[in-house]
Amino acid sequence: MKIHEYQAKEILRKYGVATPRGFPCFSVDEAAEAARKLGGTVWVVKAQIHAGGRGKGGGVKLARSLDEVRVHASRILGMQLKTHQTGPEGQKVRRLLVEEGANITKELYAGMVVDRGSQRVVLMASSEGGMDIEEVAAKSPEKIHKVTVDPVTGLTTRDAEDIARKAGVPEKAAAQARALLQGLYRVFDETDASLAEINPLILTGDDRVLALDAKMNFDDNALFRHPEIVAMRDLDEEDPAEIEASKYDLSYISLDGNIGCLVNGAGLAMATMDIIKLYGGEPANFLDVGGGASTEKVTEAFKIMLRNPRLKAILVNIFGGIMKCDVIAEGVVTAAREVHLKVPLVVRLEGTNVGIGKKILAESRLPIISASNMADAAQKAVGAANGK
Ligand code: ADP
Ligand code: MG
Repeated sequence: MKIHEYQAKEILRKYGVATPRGFPCFSVDEAAEAARKLGGTVWVVKAQIHAGGRGKGGGVKLARSLDEVRVHASRILGMQLKTHQTGPEGQKVRRLLVEEGANITKELYAGMVVDRGSQRVVLMASSEGGMDIEEVAAKSPEKIHKVTVDPVTGLTTRDAEDIARKAGVPEKAAAQARALLQGLYRVFDETDASLAEINPLILTGDDRVLALDAKMNFDDNALFRHPEIVAMRDLDEEDPAEIEASKYDLSYISLDGNIGCLVNGAGLAMATMDIIKLYGGEPANFLDVGGGASTEKVTEAFKIMLRNPRLKAILVNIFGGIMKCDVIAEGVVTAAREVHLKVPLVVRLEGTNVGIGKKILAESRLPIISASNMADAAQKAVGAANGK
């Protein structure tokens, strides 16, 4: 689960991570009022969406008067903000963060992720902050420093100081940077985060370090123990198809392609997407209907896939283990009738009761393209999506 920058900053502050002062705002009047309450002479009006790169896209603006705060707030609120992370259609801005303008002398980077290889939390820091860290990693990987954190000791003082120095924190700010990084580790650990990124982490004119931007993602499987984080969820930022799917307990992820996939089992679903790509196609979604899919669930899954205007074909790939092929075939037939299926449907069934399942499909008289194995199914789905 993702949260907004202002929410991440609220959490970080509780762990002693210094950030600029600021207020979330939902209207132009609130933005002006926030700036007035903050005082000072320079403010920053920041679009709050679940995507990075807002600055480049025009979603972060400096204001030198309360009137300028109003002008920027009214331009940014409601805009369709496009960044390299939103996709071409962009994301509508519904919330702002108005914060005090910081006196930046240098922009650094600090980020924390769970590293699957070492099965530990890794802290990364770099002197190259403010920009796309993926680009730094690709072009000058030697500028990204890493420490793997031992969960028993946490982030040690020595490691924190060492990496801060390597990232270019001067001696005067070293103690504060260490405390900030250790706070970042504690928040990461205690909230079951999967990502915590501060880009930029800045050095100020008065030798302090400050988290100027903040991004946090959390492990969905641990959310049950963090109701205060669940309360921060913003459904406006999530894919409507994924929200709908979660109501039916379907594991659904929207993708960019045009071949809808309906599969039982996450492993088989991954393999199905791989084989579609192998034959030159692009999956429109990941969908695992689970082991106990009912006719109702299959119907809902079809409806969710069909909402996608790009959809050109559907591939149903089922291995009947616990799930019986005839149950799935019934579900497919009912769903196809109910939703007036207009795109080609390729079905590959294997396993328990496959004979009965195939018979049900054949007798339905629906224009179903049946496939004998996964390669055959993928080729037929790719062909159908290309109008062949
Ligand atoms: P994004 O990463 O989505 O572009 P950031 O929060 O990193 O958004 O802001 C982009 C840039 O805007 C920062 O690198 C920094 O230069 C500037 N900026 C952001 N917040 C402030 C602030 N409070 N004071 C001064 N400059 C800021
Ligand atoms: Mg940033």
